[in-house]
Amino acid sequence: MMESKNRIGDEWMIPDGRKMVVKNPSNLDEEVGVIHLSHDYHVMEAEKAARNALGEWASKTPGERGEVLYHMAQALQNQLEDLATLASSEMGKPITEMKGEVKRGIHLLKYYAAEGMRSDGSVIPASSTGVLQYTKRVPLGVVGIITPWNFPVAIPIWKLAPALICGNTVIWKPSENASLTATRLMEIFAATDLPPGVLNLLIGKGREIGPPLLEQMDLDGVSFTGSSETGTKVAMICAKRNIKYQTEMGGKNAAVVLRDADIHQTVPLVLSGAFRSAGQKCTATSRIIVEKGIFSAFTEVLKKEMAKIKMANALDPTATLGPVASKEQYDKVSSYVDLARSSAEVLTEKTSSLSDPGYYIDPIVVTGVDVKHQLSQEEIFGPLAVILEASDFEEAVEWCNQTVYGLSASLFTRDLSKAHLFLDKAEAGMVRVNQETAGVEYQAPFGGMKGSSSHTREQGQAALDFYSQVKTCAIQYR
Ligand code: NAD
Repeated sequence: MMESKNRIGDEWMIPDGRKMVVKNPSNLDEEVGVIHLSHDYHVMEAEKAARNALGEWASKTPGERGEVLYHMAQALQNQLEDLATLASSEMGKPITEMKGEVKRGIHLLKYYAAEGMRSDGSVIPASSTGVLQYTKRVPLGVVGIITPWNFPVAIPIWKLAPALICGNTVIWKPSENASLTATRLMEIFAATDLPPGVLNLLIGKGREIGPPLLEQMDLDGVSFTGSSETGTKVAMICAKRNIKYQTEMGGKNAAVVLRDADIHQTVPLVLSGAFRSAGQKCTATSRIIVEKGIFSAFTEVLKKEMAKIKMANALDPTATLGPVASKEQYDKVSSYVDLARSSAEVLTEKTSSLSDPGYYIDPIVVTGVDVKHQLSQEEIFGPLAVILEASDFEEAVEWCNQTVYGLSASLFTRDLSKAHLFLDKAEAGMVRVNQETAGVEYQAPFGGMKGSSSHTREQGQAALDFYSQVKTCAIQYR
Protein backbone atom coordinates (compact mmCIF):
# COMPACT_ATOMS: atom_id res chain seq x y z
CA MET A 1 0.00 0.00 0.00
CA MET A 2 1.24 3.48 -0.84
CA GLU A 3 2.64 5.51 2.08
CA SER A 4 3.17 9.24 2.21
CA LYS A 5 6.72 10.47 2.81
CA ASN A 6 8.43 13.76 3.41
CA ARG A 7 11.22 14.76 1.08
CA ILE A 8 13.68 17.04 2.82
CA GLY A 9 16.98 17.79 1.08
CA ASP A 10 18.11 14.49 -0.43
CA GLU A 11 16.29 12.34 2.11
CA TRP A 12 12.98 10.58 2.14
CA MET A 13 11.54 10.13 5.58
CA ILE A 14 8.36 8.85 7.16
CA PRO A 15 7.38 10.92 10.22
CA ASP A 16 6.81 8.69 13.26
CA GLY A 17 3.74 10.66 14.38
CA ARG A 18 0.06 10.05 13.73
CA LYS A 19 -1.17 8.12 10.71
CA MET A 20 -4.33 8.38 8.64
CA VAL A 21 -5.63 5.62 6.39
CA VAL A 22 -6.82 6.93 3.02
CA LYS A 23 -9.98 5.30 1.74
CA ASN A 24 -11.03 5.56 -1.88
CA PRO A 25 -13.99 8.01 -1.92
CA SER A 26 -15.45 6.02 -4.85
CA ASN A 27 -15.41 2.83 -2.78
CA LEU A 28 -14.81 3.14 0.94
CA ASP A 29 -14.06 -0.58 1.23
CA GLU A 30 -10.82 0.05 -0.64
CA GLU A 31 -7.77 1.43 1.19
CA VAL A 32 -5.52 3.48 -1.07
CA GLY A 33 -2.68 4.18 1.34
CA VAL A 34 -1.48 5.65 4.60
CA ILE A 35 -0.56 9.23 5.38
CA HIS A 36 2.06 10.03 8.01
CA LEU A 37 1.70 13.44 9.60
CA SER A 38 4.71 15.67 10.29
CA HIS A 39 5.61 17.53 13.49
CA ASP A 40 6.74 21.12 13.69
CA TYR A 41 10.45 20.12 13.89
CA HIS A 42 10.18 18.63 10.39
CA VAL A 43 9.25 22.09 9.20
CA MET A 44 12.50 23.48 10.57
CA GLU A 45 14.49 20.71 8.84
CA ALA A 46 12.81 21.59 5.55
CA GLU A 47 13.74 25.23 6.03
CA LYS A 48 17.41 24.31 6.52
CA ALA A 49 17.43 22.16 3.37
CA ALA A 50 15.72 24.83 1.23
CA ARG A 51 18.03 27.58 2.54
CA ASN A 52 21.16 25.47 1.91
CA ALA A 53 20.13 24.75 -1.67
CA LEU A 54 19.18 28.35 -2.48
CA GLY A 55 22.58 29.86 -3.36
CA GLU A 56 23.52 27.29 -5.98
CA TRP A 57 20.06 27.06 -7.55
CA ALA A 58 19.66 30.85 -7.73
CA SER A 59 23.09 31.22 -9.35
CA LYS A 60 22.27 28.82 -12.21
CA THR A 61 21.27 30.47 -15.45
CA PRO A 62 17.53 30.45 -16.21
CA GLY A 63 18.40 28.22 -19.17
CA GLU A 64 19.99 25.66 -16.84
CA ARG A 65 16.97 25.75 -14.54
CA GLY A 66 14.70 25.46 -17.58
CA GLU A 67 16.57 22.30 -18.64
CA VAL A 68 15.66 20.73 -15.26
CA LEU A 69 12.01 21.73 -15.70
CA TYR A 70 11.97 20.05 -19.13
CA HIS A 71 13.27 16.86 -17.52
CA MET A 72 10.56 17.09 -14.86
CA ALA A 73 7.96 17.45 -17.65
CA GLN A 74 9.35 14.39 -19.43
CA ALA A 75 9.36 12.34 -16.22
CA LEU A 76 5.76 13.32 -15.55
CA GLN A 77 4.76 12.39 -19.10
CA ASN A 78 6.20 8.90 -18.50
CA GLN A 79 4.08 8.49 -15.34
CA LEU A 80 0.88 10.18 -16.54
CA GLU A 81 -1.42 7.14 -16.30
CA ASP A 82 -0.07 5.96 -12.98
CA LEU A 83 -0.26 9.36 -11.29
CA ALA A 84 -3.74 10.12 -12.64
CA THR A 85 -5.02 6.74 -11.40
CA LEU A 86 -3.60 7.34 -7.93
CA ALA A 87 -5.08 10.85 -7.74
CA SER A 88 -8.53 9.68 -8.92
CA SER A 89 -8.45 6.93 -6.29
CA GLU A 90 -7.34 9.33 -3.57
CA MET A 91 -9.70 12.27 -4.12
CA GLY A 92 -12.36 11.05 -6.55
CA LYS A 93 -11.83 13.22 -9.64
CA PRO A 94 -12.96 11.27 -12.73
CA ILE A 95 -9.99 9.68 -14.47
CA THR A 96 -10.58 11.36 -17.84
CA GLU A 97 -10.44 14.79 -16.20
CA MET A 98 -7.54 13.73 -14.00
CA LYS A 99 -5.46 12.69 -17.02
CA GLY A 100 -6.22 16.10 -18.56
CA GLU A 101 -5.00 17.70 -15.35
CA VAL A 102 -1.69 15.80 -15.41
CA LYS A 103 -1.27 16.85 -19.06
CA ARG A 104 -1.81 20.42 -17.99
CA GLY A 105 0.95 19.95 -15.40
CA ILE A 106 3.30 18.76 -18.17
CA HIS A 107 2.43 21.80 -20.31
CA LEU A 108 2.96 24.13 -17.35
CA LEU A 109 6.45 22.73 -16.74
CA LYS A 110 7.38 23.11 -20.41
CA TYR A 111 5.90 26.60 -20.56
CA TYR A 112 7.86 27.85 -17.54
CA ALA A 113 11.01 26.06 -18.74
CA ALA A 114 10.82 28.21 -21.88
CA GLU A 115 9.91 31.36 -19.91
CA GLY A 116 13.40 31.14 -18.40
CA MET A 117 14.85 32.24 -21.75
CA ARG A 118 12.60 35.28 -22.13
CA SER A 119 14.15 38.68 -21.51
CA ASP A 120 12.95 39.67 -18.06
CA GLY A 121 14.16 43.24 -17.59
CA SER A 122 14.26 46.49 -19.47
CA VAL A 123 16.73 49.24 -20.23
CA ILE A 124 15.49 52.60 -18.95
CA PRO A 125 17.02 55.91 -20.11
CA ALA A 126 19.01 57.64 -17.32
CA SER A 127 18.99 61.40 -16.62
CA SER A 128 22.80 61.75 -16.85
CA THR A 129 25.01 60.81 -19.77
CA GLY A 130 27.21 57.74 -19.59
CA VAL A 131 24.83 55.78 -17.42
CA LEU A 132 23.31 52.43 -18.25
CA GLN A 133 20.15 51.98 -16.18
CA TYR A 134 18.22 48.73 -16.31
CA THR A 135 16.04 46.39 -14.29
CA LYS A 136 16.54 42.75 -13.55
CA ARG A 137 14.59 40.17 -11.66
CA VAL A 138 16.00 38.30 -8.68
CA PRO A 139 14.39 35.42 -6.78
CA LEU A 140 12.47 35.94 -3.54
CA GLY A 141 14.44 33.19 -1.76
CA VAL A 142 12.75 30.30 0.07
CA VAL A 143 9.08 30.12 -0.86
CA GLY A 144 6.29 28.24 0.96
CA ILE A 145 3.65 26.68 -1.28
CA ILE A 146 0.39 25.54 0.32
CA THR A 147 -2.08 23.70 -1.92
CA PRO A 148 -5.63 22.27 -1.76
CA TRP A 149 -6.83 18.81 -2.78
CA ASN A 150 -9.16 19.66 -5.67
CA PHE A 151 -6.44 20.04 -8.33
CA PRO A 152 -3.82 17.81 -6.70
CA VAL A 153 -1.36 18.00 -9.63
CA ALA A 154 -2.03 21.17 -11.63
CA ILE A 155 -2.18 23.67 -8.74
CA PRO A 156 1.12 22.54 -7.15
CA ILE A 157 2.80 22.67 -10.56
CA TRP A 158 1.38 26.07 -11.51
CA LYS A 159 3.04 27.36 -8.34
CA LEU A 160 6.28 25.41 -8.15
CA ALA A 161 7.25 25.67 -11.85
CA PRO A 162 7.36 29.52 -11.92
CA ALA A 163 8.89 29.57 -8.41
CA LEU A 164 11.72 27.28 -9.56
CA ILE A 165 12.39 28.96 -12.91
CA CYS A 166 12.78 32.28 -11.06
CA GLY A 167 15.52 30.72 -8.89
CA ASN A 168 13.64 30.17 -5.64
CA THR A 169 13.76 27.05 -3.52
CA VAL A 170 10.48 25.65 -2.30
CA ILE A 171 8.83 24.01 0.69
CA TRP A 172 5.59 22.46 -0.50
CA LYS A 173 2.77 21.60 1.92
CA PRO A 174 0.00 19.79 0.02
CA SER A 175 -3.48 19.13 1.37
CA GLU A 176 -3.75 16.16 3.69
CA ASN A 177 -6.45 14.89 1.29
CA ALA A 178 -4.02 14.72 -1.62
CA SER A 179 -0.82 13.67 0.14
CA LEU A 180 -0.36 10.32 -1.60
CA THR A 181 -0.56 12.05 -4.98
CA ALA A 182 1.89 14.68 -3.73
CA THR A 183 4.32 11.97 -2.59
CA ARG A 184 4.16 10.23 -5.98
CA LEU A 185 4.63 13.53 -7.82
CA MET A 186 7.64 14.31 -5.65
CA GLU A 187 9.07 10.83 -6.34
CA ILE A 188 8.76 11.53 -10.06
CA PHE A 189 10.52 14.88 -9.76
CA ALA A 190 13.19 13.65 -7.34
CA ALA A 191 14.25 11.00 -9.88
CA THR A 192 15.29 13.77 -12.33
CA ASP A 193 18.33 16.05 -12.05
CA LEU A 194 16.42 18.46 -9.76
CA PRO A 195 19.08 19.19 -7.11
CA PRO A 196 18.30 18.05 -3.53
CA GLY A 197 16.81 20.73 -1.31
CA VAL A 198 15.43 22.79 -4.21
CA LEU A 199 11.96 21.28 -3.76
CA ASN A 200 11.01 19.91 -0.35
CA LEU A 201 7.78 18.16 0.53
CA LEU A 202 6.14 18.27 3.95
CA ILE A 203 3.07 16.13 4.60
CA GLY A 204 0.85 17.16 7.48
CA LYS A 205 -2.31 18.75 8.80
CA GLY A 206 -2.61 22.41 7.90
CA ARG A 207 -3.62 23.48 11.35
CA GLU A 208 -0.66 21.63 12.89
CA ILE A 209 2.26 22.41 10.61
CA GLY A 210 0.79 25.55 9.02
CA PRO A 211 1.51 27.80 12.03
CA PRO A 212 5.22 26.78 12.41
CA LEU A 213 5.63 26.99 8.63
CA LEU A 214 4.24 30.49 8.43
CA GLU A 215 5.19 31.97 11.79
CA GLN A 216 8.50 30.41 12.81
CA MET A 217 10.24 29.72 9.54
CA ASP A 218 12.30 32.26 7.74
CA LEU A 219 10.22 32.27 4.54
CA ASP A 220 10.62 34.89 1.83
CA GLY A 221 7.27 34.35 0.14
CA VAL A 222 4.09 32.29 0.40
CA SER A 223 1.69 31.15 -2.29
CA PHE A 224 -1.55 29.66 -0.97
CA THR A 225 -4.65 28.21 -2.64
CA GLY A 226 -7.57 27.02 -0.56
CA SER A 227 -10.58 28.23 1.35
CA SER A 228 -11.19 31.90 2.11
CA GLU A 229 -11.17 31.11 5.81
CA THR A 230 -7.65 29.68 5.80
CA GLY A 231 -6.39 32.08 3.13
CA THR A 232 -7.36 35.11 5.17
CA LYS A 233 -5.38 33.78 8.15
CA VAL A 234 -2.37 33.06 5.92
CA ALA A 235 -2.53 36.57 4.45
CA MET A 236 -2.65 38.20 7.89
CA ILE A 237 0.39 36.31 9.13
CA CYS A 238 2.39 37.11 6.00
CA ALA A 239 1.38 40.79 6.05
CA LYS A 240 2.47 41.05 9.68
CA ARG A 241 5.86 39.54 8.79
CA ASN A 242 6.09 41.71 5.67
CA ILE A 243 6.73 38.79 3.35
CA LYS A 244 5.31 38.62 -0.15
CA TYR A 245 2.19 36.47 -0.39
CA GLN A 246 -0.61 35.47 -2.67
CA THR A 247 -3.84 33.78 -1.62
CA GLU A 248 -6.28 32.33 -4.14
CA MET A 249 -9.49 31.39 -2.40
CA GLY A 250 -13.17 30.56 -2.79
CA GLY A 251 -15.80 31.49 -5.36
CA LYS A 252 -19.56 31.70 -5.89
CA ASN A 253 -19.52 31.88 -9.65
CA ALA A 254 -22.52 32.80 -11.77
CA ALA A 255 -23.48 31.82 -15.30
CA VAL A 256 -25.86 34.48 -16.67
CA VAL A 257 -28.14 33.29 -19.48
CA LEU A 258 -29.85 35.99 -21.55
CA ARG A 259 -33.06 35.68 -23.55
CA ASP A 260 -31.21 35.54 -26.86
CA ALA A 261 -28.78 32.76 -25.85
CA ASP A 262 -28.64 29.55 -27.86
CA ILE A 263 -30.17 27.28 -25.22
CA HIS A 264 -28.97 24.02 -26.73
CA GLN A 265 -25.37 25.20 -26.74
CA THR A 266 -25.65 26.89 -23.35
CA VAL A 267 -27.15 24.16 -21.18
CA PRO A 268 -24.33 21.57 -21.59
CA LEU A 269 -21.77 24.28 -20.78
CA VAL A 270 -23.67 25.38 -17.69
CA LEU A 271 -24.01 21.77 -16.48
CA SER A 272 -20.36 21.04 -17.19
CA GLY A 273 -19.38 24.12 -15.16
CA ALA A 274 -21.66 23.08 -12.32
CA PHE A 275 -21.09 19.34 -12.06
CA ARG A 276 -17.75 18.23 -13.46
CA SER A 277 -15.44 17.25 -10.61
CA ALA A 278 -18.67 17.10 -8.56
CA GLY A 279 -18.74 20.91 -8.44
CA GLN A 280 -15.46 20.95 -6.50
CA LYS A 281 -13.72 23.62 -8.55
CA CYS A 282 -13.13 27.13 -7.29
CA THR A 283 -14.49 28.26 -10.67
CA ALA A 284 -17.53 25.92 -10.65
CA THR A 285 -20.90 27.37 -11.68
CA SER A 286 -22.85 27.66 -8.46
CA ARG A 287 -25.52 30.19 -9.50
CA ILE A 288 -27.38 30.14 -12.82
CA ILE A 289 -29.06 33.50 -13.44
CA VAL A 290 -31.61 33.25 -16.23
CA GLU A 291 -33.30 36.26 -17.84
CA LYS A 292 -37.09 36.38 -17.66
CA GLY A 293 -38.75 35.14 -20.83
CA ILE A 294 -36.45 32.16 -21.31
CA PHE A 295 -36.78 30.48 -17.91
CA SER A 296 -39.19 27.68 -18.81
CA ALA A 297 -37.54 26.90 -22.16
CA PHE A 298 -34.13 26.86 -20.46
CA THR A 299 -35.21 24.62 -17.57
CA GLU A 300 -36.93 22.17 -19.96
CA VAL A 301 -33.66 21.61 -21.84
CA LEU A 302 -31.73 21.57 -18.56
CA LYS A 303 -33.88 18.71 -17.22
CA LYS A 304 -33.29 16.69 -20.40
CA GLU A 305 -29.53 17.26 -20.29
CA MET A 306 -29.38 16.45 -16.56
CA ALA A 307 -30.69 13.01 -17.41
CA LYS A 308 -27.52 12.38 -19.47
CA ILE A 309 -25.14 13.11 -16.60
CA LYS A 310 -23.35 10.03 -15.35
CA MET A 311 -22.12 9.73 -11.81
CA ALA A 312 -19.80 6.76 -11.36
CA ASN A 313 -16.64 5.43 -9.76
CA ALA A 314 -13.87 7.94 -10.54
CA LEU A 315 -11.95 5.28 -12.47
CA ASP A 316 -14.83 4.90 -14.95
CA PRO A 317 -13.66 6.82 -18.06
CA THR A 318 -17.27 7.70 -18.97
CA ALA A 319 -18.08 9.37 -15.62
CA THR A 320 -19.16 13.02 -15.72
CA LEU A 321 -18.69 13.18 -11.99
CA GLY A 322 -17.50 10.88 -9.27
CA PRO A 323 -17.91 11.15 -5.51
CA VAL A 324 -16.99 14.20 -3.46
CA ALA A 325 -13.49 13.95 -2.09
CA SER A 326 -13.79 13.17 1.60
CA LYS A 327 -16.06 12.59 4.60
CA GLU A 328 -15.69 16.26 5.51
CA GLN A 329 -16.81 17.28 2.01
CA TYR A 330 -19.65 14.75 2.08
CA ASP A 331 -21.00 16.07 5.38
CA LYS A 332 -20.68 19.72 4.37
CA VAL A 333 -22.28 19.34 0.93
CA SER A 334 -25.02 17.05 2.30
CA SER A 335 -25.99 19.72 4.80
CA TYR A 336 -26.48 22.19 1.92
CA VAL A 337 -28.56 19.59 0.05
CA ASP A 338 -30.72 19.21 3.18
CA LEU A 339 -31.05 22.98 3.40
CA ALA A 340 -32.06 23.09 -0.28
CA ARG A 341 -34.69 20.40 0.23
CA SER A 342 -36.18 22.29 3.16
CA SER A 343 -35.96 25.87 1.93
CA ALA A 344 -35.90 25.72 -1.88
CA GLU A 345 -37.69 23.93 -4.69
CA VAL A 346 -35.89 21.06 -6.40
CA LEU A 347 -36.03 21.80 -10.11
CA THR A 348 -34.21 18.69 -11.24
CA GLU A 349 -31.84 16.09 -9.90
CA LYS A 350 -30.14 13.07 -11.36
CA THR A 351 -30.49 10.15 -9.01
CA SER A 352 -28.10 7.26 -9.38
CA SER A 353 -28.19 3.89 -7.71
CA LEU A 354 -24.55 3.05 -7.25
CA SER A 355 -23.75 -0.13 -5.40
CA ASP A 356 -20.26 0.90 -4.20
CA PRO A 357 -20.18 2.54 -0.78
CA GLY A 358 -18.73 5.95 -1.55
CA TYR A 359 -19.13 9.68 -0.93
CA TYR A 360 -21.62 10.08 -3.77
CA ILE A 361 -23.96 13.05 -3.86
CA ASP A 362 -26.49 13.23 -6.69
CA PRO A 363 -26.26 16.42 -8.75
CA ILE A 364 -29.16 18.74 -8.02
CA VAL A 365 -30.49 22.08 -9.33
CA VAL A 366 -32.80 24.10 -7.10
CA THR A 367 -34.82 27.26 -7.46
CA GLY A 368 -37.31 29.34 -5.45
CA VAL A 369 -34.71 31.20 -3.34
CA ASP A 370 -33.58 34.81 -3.72
CA VAL A 371 -30.12 36.19 -4.30
CA LYS A 372 -29.55 36.85 -0.59
CA HIS A 373 -30.35 33.28 0.48
CA GLN A 374 -27.56 31.22 2.01
CA LEU A 375 -27.64 28.88 -1.01
CA SER A 376 -27.06 31.87 -3.32
CA GLN A 377 -24.31 33.35 -1.15
CA GLU A 378 -22.14 30.63 0.40
CA GLU A 379 -19.56 28.54 -1.43
CA ILE A 380 -21.01 25.00 -1.45
CA PHE A 381 -18.19 23.29 -3.36
CA GLY A 382 -20.35 20.36 -4.40
CA PRO A 383 -22.83 19.26 -7.09
CA LEU A 384 -25.60 21.72 -6.15
CA ALA A 385 -26.54 24.73 -8.29
CA VAL A 386 -29.16 27.40 -7.73
CA ILE A 387 -31.25 28.97 -10.52
CA LEU A 388 -32.44 32.57 -10.13
CA GLU A 389 -34.74 34.40 -12.56
CA ALA A 390 -33.72 38.02 -13.23
CA SER A 391 -36.06 40.53 -14.87
CA ASP A 392 -33.46 41.87 -17.33
CA PHE A 393 -29.75 42.09 -18.18
CA GLU A 394 -29.10 44.88 -15.66
CA GLU A 395 -30.62 42.95 -12.78
CA ALA A 396 -28.76 39.79 -13.84
CA VAL A 397 -25.43 41.62 -13.71
CA GLU A 398 -26.33 43.18 -10.37
CA TRP A 399 -27.07 39.73 -8.92
CA CYS A 400 -23.96 38.27 -10.50
CA ASN A 401 -21.96 40.85 -8.53
CA GLN A 402 -23.97 40.49 -5.32
CA THR A 403 -21.44 38.24 -3.59
CA VAL A 404 -18.33 38.68 -1.48
CA TYR A 405 -16.45 36.55 -4.02
CA GLY A 406 -15.15 37.53 -7.44
CA LEU A 407 -13.45 34.60 -9.12
CA SER A 408 -15.25 33.70 -12.33
CA ALA A 409 -18.40 34.74 -14.23
CA SER A 410 -19.94 33.82 -17.59
CA LEU A 411 -22.54 35.33 -19.87
CA PHE A 412 -24.46 33.42 -22.53
CA THR A 413 -25.76 35.66 -25.30
CA ARG A 414 -25.60 36.47 -29.02
CA ASP A 415 -25.64 40.22 -28.33
CA LEU A 416 -22.12 41.58 -28.80
CA SER A 417 -22.89 44.82 -27.06
CA LYS A 418 -24.17 43.06 -23.92
CA ALA A 419 -21.18 40.71 -24.08
CA HIS A 420 -18.79 43.67 -23.87
CA LEU A 421 -20.86 45.37 -21.17
CA PHE A 422 -20.74 42.19 -19.11
CA LEU A 423 -16.97 41.84 -19.54
CA ASP A 424 -16.71 45.44 -18.26
CA LYS A 425 -19.14 45.18 -15.37
CA ALA A 426 -18.81 41.66 -13.95
CA GLU A 427 -16.75 41.84 -10.76
CA ALA A 428 -14.63 38.74 -11.34
CA GLY A 429 -11.04 38.03 -12.29
CA MET A 430 -12.08 35.51 -14.96
CA VAL A 431 -14.91 36.75 -17.21
CA ARG A 432 -16.18 34.82 -20.19
CA VAL A 433 -18.85 34.90 -22.88
CA ASN A 434 -20.43 31.69 -24.19
CA GLN A 435 -17.96 29.60 -22.19
CA GLU A 436 -18.42 27.81 -18.89
CA THR A 437 -17.19 29.47 -15.68
CA ALA A 438 -14.71 26.67 -15.00
CA GLY A 439 -11.48 26.19 -16.87
CA VAL A 440 -8.18 28.01 -17.09
CA GLU A 441 -5.41 28.38 -19.64
CA TYR A 442 -1.91 28.02 -18.21
CA GLN A 443 -0.49 30.78 -20.41
CA ALA A 444 -3.03 33.40 -19.25
CA PRO A 445 -3.24 35.11 -15.84
CA PHE A 446 -5.56 33.43 -13.37
CA GLY A 447 -7.04 34.80 -10.15
CA GLY A 448 -9.95 36.49 -8.48
CA MET A 449 -11.24 39.86 -7.38
CA LYS A 450 -12.87 40.90 -4.08
CA GLY A 451 -12.87 38.12 -1.43
CA SER A 452 -11.54 35.47 -3.84
CA SER A 453 -7.95 36.60 -3.90
CA SER A 454 -5.25 38.83 -2.49
CA HIS A 455 -5.16 40.36 -5.98
CA THR A 456 -1.99 39.03 -7.49
CA ARG A 457 -2.34 36.62 -10.42
CA GLU A 458 -1.10 33.10 -11.00
CA GLN A 459 -0.04 31.33 -14.22
CA GLY A 460 1.09 32.97 -17.44
CA GLN A 461 3.78 35.60 -17.06
CA ALA A 462 1.94 37.05 -14.06
CA ALA A 463 3.39 34.23 -11.95
CA LEU A 464 6.93 35.40 -12.78
CA ASP A 465 6.08 38.77 -11.24
CA PHE A 466 5.03 37.08 -8.03
CA TYR A 467 8.02 34.75 -7.67
CA SER A 468 10.64 37.43 -8.30
CA GLN A 469 11.49 40.93 -7.22
CA VAL A 470 12.80 43.72 -9.40
CA LYS A 471 16.15 45.43 -8.89
CA THR A 472 16.88 48.72 -10.64
CA CYS A 473 20.56 48.76 -11.61
CA ALA A 474 22.73 51.67 -12.78
CA ILE A 475 26.31 51.72 -14.09
CA GLN A 476 28.25 54.94 -14.73
CA TYR A 477 30.47 53.84 -17.59
CA ARG A 478 32.05 57.16 -18.59
P1 NAD B 1 -8.33 24.56 2.94
O1 NAD B 1 -8.27 26.02 3.17
O2 NAD B 1 -8.97 23.71 3.96
O3 NAD B 1 -6.84 23.98 2.80
C1 NAD B 1 -5.93 24.47 1.84
C2 NAD B 1 -4.52 24.18 2.31
O4 NAD B 1 -4.25 24.96 3.49
C3 NAD B 1 -4.29 22.72 2.72
O5 NAD B 1 -2.99 22.32 2.35
C4 NAD B 1 -4.41 22.77 4.23
O6 NAD B 1 -3.73 21.74 4.89
C5 NAD B 1 -3.76 24.12 4.50
N1 NAD B 1 -4.09 24.71 5.81
C6 NAD B 1 -5.19 24.51 6.57
N2 NAD B 1 -5.11 25.24 7.70
C7 NAD B 1 -3.94 25.92 7.66
C8 NAD B 1 -3.29 26.84 8.51
N3 NAD B 1 -3.83 27.22 9.67
N4 NAD B 1 -2.11 27.35 8.13
C9 NAD B 1 -1.55 26.99 6.94
N5 NAD B 1 -2.11 26.12 6.09
C10 NAD B 1 -3.29 25.59 6.44
O7 NAD B 1 -8.97 24.34 1.49
P2 NAD B 1 -9.32 22.95 0.76
O8 NAD B 1 -10.53 22.36 1.39
O9 NAD B 1 -8.08 22.12 0.64
O10 NAD B 1 -9.68 23.45 -0.73
C11 NAD B 1 -10.95 23.88 -1.10
C12 NAD B 1 -10.98 25.39 -1.19
O11 NAD B 1 -9.97 25.84 -2.08
C13 NAD B 1 -12.29 25.94 -1.76
O12 NAD B 1 -12.70 27.04 -0.99
C14 NAD B 1 -11.90 26.39 -3.16
O13 NAD B 1 -12.69 27.43 -3.69
C15 NAD B 1 -10.49 26.82 -2.97
N6 NAD B 1 -9.75 26.82 -4.22
C16 NAD B 1 -9.43 28.02 -4.78
C17 NAD B 1 -8.76 28.06 -6.00
C18 NAD B 1 -8.37 29.37 -6.63
O14 NAD B 1 -7.47 29.37 -7.44
N7 NAD B 1 -9.02 30.46 -6.28
C19 NAD B 1 -8.41 26.86 -6.64
C20 NAD B 1 -8.76 25.66 -6.03
C21 NAD B 1 -9.41 25.65 -4.82
